[in-house]
Amino acid sequence: MVKACPRCGAPAVEHAGDFWEFECGTALYVRRDTPSGVPEEHLEGPCAEPLVFITTTFTPSMLPPMFELPPQEHVAAVTAEVDHDDVYDLLSRTEPEQVRGAVGHENTARVIERLLGDALPEGVSLFARRNISLRAGDKVIAVIPQFRADKAREFTNEEISSANFRFFVTRVLPQWEAPSVMSD
Ligand SMILES: [Zn+2]
Repeated sequence: MVKACPRCGAPAVEHAGDFWEFECGTALYVRRDTPSGVPEEHLEGPCAEPLVFITTTFTPSMLPPMFELPPQEHVAAVTAEVDHDDVYDLLSRTEPEQVRGAVGHENTARVIERLLGDALPEGVSLFARRNISLRAGDKVIAVIPQFRADKAREFTNEEISSANFRFFVTRVLPQWEAPSVMSD
């Protein structure tokens, strides 16, 4: 039973038999009459295209488990710190419907929305608790508040609104295009 978009984690709004439609506008259907006889899942709509997620963190577990994918679909990730202007530039080159907010803490989401201002396409809300599953071609813009916290927790409103932020972009690419992590 599919309850959420397998790409962006948006909840299902419609379901009939082997067909699901999600809040993000993406549809998933299962094709059973495949040459191999093994049912195949197909995605159609915005989440079938490369996505740009805006988050407050990047973690390798956002990459799909390798055992679920054939070797040619294995991915690698490249992360670099960028500046505010780079984030603007990247968002200006991205189709608005490919941008997904994935900031799980509402006040942090509002502060980052103000920080990104006009660069954020109209109608994109950053506040969303999603399970992200990245594919080659996707990017993650991680906007990370800078202050010392003695343990992992949600930040207070004062901390968030007075924080400085660092910006990181992670690009997901096919593993065969990336340098091997195993070479010296
Ligand atoms: Zn989706």
